[in-house]
Amino acid sequence: MRRAVKIGLWVVALLAVAGLGIFFFVLPAQVEAALNGVLQPPPYAASRAAADLHRSIQVADLHADPLLWGRDLLERGTRGHVDIPRLDEGNVALQVFSVVSKSPSNLNIERNDDQSDDITLLAIGQRWPFRTWFSLKERALYQSQRLHRMAAASENKFMLIKTKRDLARFMQRRKAEPGIVAGLLAIEGAQVLEGDPANVDVLFDAGFRMMSVAHFFDNEMGGSAHGIEKGGLTESGREMIRRMEARRMIVDLSHGSATQLNDVLAMVTRPVVVSHTGVKGTCDNNRNLDDDQLRAIAAKGGLIGIGFWETAVCGTDATAIARAQRYVADLIGIDHLALGSDFDGSVATPFDATGLVLVTEALLGAGFSNGNVGKAMGGNQIRFLMENLPD
Ligand SMILES: [Zn+2]
Repeated sequence: MRRAVKIGLWVVALLAVAGLGIFFFVLPAQVEAALNGVLQPPPYAASRAAADLHRSIQVADLHADPLLWGRDLLERGTRGHVDIPRLDEGNVALQVFSVVSKSPSNLNIERNDDQSDDITLLAIGQRWPFRTWFSLKERALYQSQRLHRMAAASENKFMLIKTKRDLARFMQRRKAEPGIVAGLLAIEGAQVLEGDPANVDVLFDAGFRMMSVAHFFDNEMGGSAHGIEKGGLTESGREMIRRMEARRMIVDLSHGSATQLNDVLAMVTRPVVVSHTGVKGTCDNNRNLDDDQLRAIAAKGGLIGIGFWETAVCGTDATAIARAQRYVADLIGIDHLALGSDFDGSVATPFDATGLVLVTEALLGAGFSNGNVGKAMGGNQIRFLMENLPD
């Protein structure tokens, strides 16, 4: 009897350990594999003309979320879309790495409140430090530390860009070392300020150079296009924008409500970006920008990063992406066009980072000149950052 009880206890203990093991190691990987799908598996074949052009241009992307998933980005991953080896293979010079801090359950593009959060489970499941479990600011700071550690361990293969001088130096170096990759840190949603605009300085000092006001829900700074109120900038939000401009942090209008977008554009003195979006002109839904918004952003010298996922472009291939790019270039001019993949952003994309040559090919197919393909694929973004990052 006693022996049976003992064995029973051991079985319970083993099951608990196995359960925790599944929770800590297997589940986050499975969650990512399920959420960050690739519709066409690599390798990706493009025409000779597209491949040659793609090798000769500077490719840059305004938005990807690989930091959320716990992978060592110096290693080539078997799931998701982005890591340094795959960026290198896709000839990406510069990738913006964005931090996601809070994500409501049953996420949708129409209406979310801020009562639930799936990232808490992911943080615990991936054994993030305890300080990140209940603090959105700490989640951002921790992700920044992780990316800094990867850069430090990369033997100069991957570096973080924080100033114009960093970027100029990197682009100069890359002429001789084409395999190197640069990263820029960004934030999705100013809920990471935890209500205090003064935290802009804390995040700037941690290396962040771009931030959107809102993500999928309204926060203390302003309204989301997918929130409940969908309001404008709050007083704290205005203070946040002033502080961001003072530090030359780039304001990202992605996910902003229409009112918030107007409020920000009415007060900024520097160009803004929409790091990842679609346009209503080719894909009419609540996630995407209308023509007036595109014109207003262009009037401020802004960049529009076109996303790769289906809700952004109403299609599941590079042709749909190029259709949106063509629309933006025709409406507001080629100089405002950028890539905003949303790789690893809990979306399925037609290809991973190794398949960016397919966008180059689709742009050629949509009638873009070689020079304009170069601008759309990253030239504009490099120029924008050279003009707008801190000295
Ligand atoms: Zn997003």
